[in-house]
Amino acid sequence: MPVAALGPYDDSNIFARILRDEIPSRRVYEDDFAIAFHDINPQAPLHVLVIPRGPWRSWADFSSAAPDAEIVGFIRAVGAVARQLGLEEPGYRLLANAGLDAHQEVPHLHVHLFGGRPLGPMLVR
Ligand code: 5GP
Repeated sequence: MPVAALGPYDDSNIFARILRDEIPSRRVYEDDFAIAFHDINPQAPLHVLVIPRGPWRSWADFSSAAPDAEIVGFIRAVGAVARQLGLEEPGYRLLANAGLDAHQEVPHLHVHLFGGRPLGPMLVR
């Protein structure tokens, strides 16, 4: 079920539990601000989720309320993950679903990073 972009942070969401290592994940990156791990249901040869360590529900609350250092740290982490995965030269796609119309399913901000093949047009029409 999709979730609203705004509202109180739910500490029991699946990515909060992955951050606390209560649920296993295949991590590919971590630093002070973010972790990245393989999506459980990949939509491309490489499909990684990058999430901030902080308790941010979506792009909506993160962009308006997060401290500057967390925003900078997270954006740099997304770039570092792509670089580490060797995707800068062939290219990659970033996608962040925010709220109901975008069908955001997990109420912890995450950026999808897709790569590993030519990805075609942006949205299915
Ligand atoms: P959203 O629709 O919220 O943008 O995307 C949520 C993503 O999280 C989906 O691509 C889904 O496959 C992924 N996902 C959901 N549960 C888990 C999980 O337990 N582990 C991992 N690695 N990915 C998950």
